[in-house]
Amino acid sequence: MENTITTFRQLYYTCKETNKKIYEAALDYEASKGENTEYKVRLQAKKSLDAMKSAIKTGLCSTESSPSGLSGNDCDKLQKRFKDYGAILGSTAQKIMTYTLATSEQNLRMGTIVACPTAGSCGIVPAVLIAYAEDYNITENDQINALITAGEIGRIVSVKMALAGAVGGCQAECGVASAMASAALTQMRGGNIKQIINASALVLKNVLGLTCDPVCGLVEIPCVKRNSFLAIHAVTASELAMANIISKIPADEIVDAMEQTGKLMSPLLKESSQGGLAKTKTAIALEKNILG
Ligand code: SF4
Repeated sequence: MENTITTFRQLYYTCKETNKKIYEAALDYEASKGENTEYKVRLQAKKSLDAMKSAIKTGLCSTESSPSGLSGNDCDKLQKRFKDYGAILGSTAQKIMTYTLATSEQNLRMGTIVACPTAGSCGIVPAVLIAYAEDYNITENDQINALITAGEIGRIVSVKMALAGAVGGCQAECGVASAMASAALTQMRGGNIKQIINASALVLKNVLGLTCDPVCGLVEIPCVKRNSFLAIHAVTASELAMANIISKIPADEIVDAMEQTGKLMSPLLKESSQGGLAKTKTAIALEKNILG
């Protein structure tokens, strides 16, 4: 029979009562649907992980512009800057920022990426997970566990709201990706169930109201750079959570607030490119230039 974990509270108590990790509860959930075995889910997660690594590798070496010409070589610029000057946040943060741009730029070049949870937010989870795994010698098995943990966080949020900019604004895309990345990172760092859920809650609380206003209707501006920002946001939340700094507002209530915020947001700010950045003077000029 299909199990029914639909809230973070249920996830927490299920894990506590069964003495399981979040990824184990997620595997049980998939198995309970009768379509998947643990083996199949882990295999799929490994394929996703490999595709993420490949997107990073290709993206790091490419300077090709997107078909629109709006973006495409920011990752290269950042790598050059770090090569000469390093990063004030340290080498892992440096990797996270570059890996995020590498993956996001691969998306706009129509390369292969893993929508995680969406194509527009595809750089955040891979960058945080893989950069940390490389620098801290995390085994492939534990990377898969972290990815499944991230997926479970995204699944629970998606029970209440669609993970789409057109429905909930960018809080539902890059915001949720950041929460997923924070959970994966906290899992790899040995955080407990409470800390993992709390890391996600801290992220979600701080992305409420994030608009989706892509310039020229293309998933490029502000999407690519936003991935980089929200990857670091995930790291901050994990650090706070590992220090047992808790979100006073519980995760489920934050998801409710996020869903309500999405409904209250004007349709002009939900992927229609009719407001916000998309209607700035420069964006209108770019639109004329590119789209005629
Ligand atoms: S701004 Fe909109 S299109 Fe771009 S990543 Fe966010 S939700 Fe997706």
